[in-house]
Amino acid sequence: SKSTGRGRHSVYQAWMTAEANARRELEADLKHALAEDQFSLVYQPIVSAEDGALVAFEALLRWEHPTRGNIPPSEFIMIAEEAGIIRQIGEWVIRSACSEAMKWDPSVKVAINLSAVQVEAEGLVGTVLHALAATGLAAERLEFEVTETVFLRQGARTKATLDQLRALGVSLALDDFGTGYSSLGYLQRTEFNKIKIDRSFVQSAASGCQESLAIIQAIVALARSLGMKTTAEGVETEAEKALVSKLGCTQLQGYLIGMPEADSSEVCDRLVA
Ligand code: C2E
Ligand code: CA
Ligand code: CA
Ligand code: CA
Repeated sequence: SKSTGRGRHSVYQAWMTAEANARRELEADLKHALAEDQFSLVYQPIVSAEDGALVAFEALLRWEHPTRGNIPPSEFIMIAEEAGIIRQIGEWVIRSACSEAMKWDPSVKVAINLSAVQVEAEGLVGTVLHALAATGLAAERLEFEVTETVFLRQGARTKATLDQLRALGVSLALDDFGTGYSSLGYLQRTEFNKIKIDRSFVQSAASGCQESLAIIQAIVALARSLGMKTTAEGVETEAEKALVSKLGCTQLQGYLIGMPEADSSEVCDRLVA
């Protein structure tokens, strides 16, 4: 009936308004989060599949909201991008992670995530140079993780920025590989050091999915022939670890290997070969 229709409509409108308000609120709160020291980084170990030695820590951003508690990056990175504050947040992440890495054994790299918007924005190379100079970290110990979406957008600066970072001695890893819009052509045009195999493939291959198994095999073969390393992401069980090791992945990451933790030094002491 007419009244039911209107009822539905107003419930929907109320929901839309609530959503929009929640988002606007988060956006406003995000703008103060840096100044109010609400961000922190946790570090998750990445180890060699061969001998279990620690090769890197991936820095993962955390936001402790004053009233809503911990808000995951999947919920605020996009808002930060749209609000135009991802660059400032990214600068803080790069500087903090480089500084933390100075506490570790020099064989251990620090991996930092960059979204497509960050790679496309002006000034990233300058930010990196500044962070390296300020902390004293060698460029060779720094690795950036980007997803295939950086190539989808095809910003004018993207390729030049990635090339400049490589020229500095910084490594590049292709994150969440296989989940995006792969064209593979960019592997020829940009010098990646590593492919990270998404957890979804690891999980389903270990539970018997033949297609996922074949995809991992193909990625490992591709990486090998192009001289790249491979990290299996999201390794949670011994069965998954055994499988991806057997398939030739060179590095492992996941809750089984180690959780993301604020105190990286202790983990470093324990895992360095
Ligand atoms: P990602 O780069 O693919 O990071 C891996 C995510 O998987 C992390 O979630 C990590 O905590 C989680 N993870 C690690 N091992 C396991 C496992 O064994 N099982 C499961 N189920 N999950 C595992 P997190 O920390 O919530 O980060 C989510 C995403 O947010 C990241 O995905 C990355 O794309 C983005 N992100 C995190 N920190 C930053 C940052 O500083 N800057 C930018 N631009 N993005 C970030
Ligand atoms: Ca990552
Ligand atoms: Ca990933
Ligand atoms: Ca991911």
